[in-house]
Amino acid sequence: MVSLSSCTILVVEDHDFQRRTALRLLKELGAEKLLEASNGREALDLLVDRGEPVDIILCDLDMPEMDGVEFISHVGVNQLAKAVAVVSAMDISILNTVETMARAYGLQVLGSISKPLSLHDLTACMASFQPRDAFKDAYVTRTEFTADDLRRGLKEREFIAFFQPKVSFKTGEVQGVEALVRWFRPGHGVISPLYFIDHMEHAGLVTPLTEVLLTQTCGYLKAWAQRGFTIKASVNVSMHCLEDTSIADRLHDLVKEADCDPRQITLELTESEVMMDVAKVLNVLARLRLKGFGLSIDDFGTGYSSLQQLSNVPFTELKIDQSFVKDSPTQGRHRTIIETSLDLARKLSLRTVAEGVETRAEWDLLKSQGCQQAQGFFIARPMPGYQIPEWIRMWRAPEEC
Ligand code: C2E
Ligand code: MG
Ligand code: MG
Repeated sequence: MVSLSSCTILVVEDHDFQRRTALRLLKELGAEKLLEASNGREALDLLVDRGEPVDIILCDLDMPEMDGVEFISHVGVNQLAKAVAVVSAMDISILNTVETMARAYGLQVLGSISKPLSLHDLTACMASFQPRDAFKDAYVTRTEFTADDLRRGLKEREFIAFFQPKVSFKTGEVQGVEALVRWFRPGHGVISPLYFIDHMEHAGLVTPLTEVLLTQTCGYLKAWAQRGFTIKASVNVSMHCLEDTSIADRLHDLVKEADCDPRQITLELTESEVMMDVAKVLNVLARLRLKGFGLSIDDFGTGYSSLQQLSNVPFTELKIDQSFVKDSPTQGRHRTIIETSLDLARKLSLRTVAEGVETRAEWDLLKSQGCQQAQGFFIARPMPGYQIPEWIRMWRAPEEC
């Protein structure tokens, strides 16, 4: 355990007695640099005045003025601490959501302690603190890891869904989001799926990952709907998941248990290079479709058997790969491929989405070609789920020229 004497710890708690108890227990554990605040607003002012991040924040959730959830989101966005620990009498499911949110900001989460605070719980919580700079290496490009690291990461809930909006070309309306996983790996920053999805497939862990992402996505769909934003979501599914015939029932049950409807969810499938058991895969896809899930063919045009797949699988959406969208305003060949793909999709009654829209010129071109939905950095980068409602409120579609 890191010596707490060198750590600056901020205790945020509105209840005087409980705040004093926390400070006393931390002193017993050897902490010397202690700060205190009685609500989120006061704590935020203190942190901003201080000008440098504290090591650990021990925070209550239910507080007047500014509650702990809002406070932690400010701490995350403004990088005001390295780690947080939540102390609360709240239900465990709320604590889990807050933990997930804090991780999505790149904060180290030391855990949730239920009230009343005990020396035993506090010791266990503080022992997990690692004095790294949480933001220094955010978005690392490549890192070494083993199947055990991935397994542990799943257990420790280090895989977090980010969401990228999908908007209508015609009306600008936000119609959905795509869930994209990020690995918040302690000590290594945030790792892109491009570096670990293959490993997950080989380690047989991609189905549990899909379930984690689908669960997080359903949680957010409900939270957004409660705030008045009823949208749909897409989740990426590796073809490897479809080798297990029980997957259709499992995904359906998971969505139902989360109190969502499979019709709100589209599963995006990318063609695999590996030859699969075609009969088995078609069986699973047909059953997923029957249960109400939408099915999207992702990265269309990059695989080798797209046309054959289209005729066999009950797809509902076609996503034009970003490699064709890129430079389409200047590349005649890309434009032709897009035109042909859109024409095919129309004839098969599939919704069309262009991914990787990065510029106004690409937006204008795809819109004029009749593509239905746009997704890409021109609209928004993938973001943590809690940011979606605020983003939708602020979003304005590009004006007609
Ligand atoms: P994808 O499903 O085709 O997702 C689109 C990728 O393009 C995402 O990369 C997204 O961040 C990126 N992107 C979006 N707009 C733009 C843009 O305008 N310009 C550029 N250059 N890139 C853009 P990301 O998040 O790194 O994901 C990469 C791939 O990893 C995904 O490609 C998907 O195949 C896979 N993946 C992501 N999350 C999951 C997951 O939960 N499960 C599985 N099985 N695969 C996943
Ligand atoms: Mg996708
Ligand atoms: Mg794609």
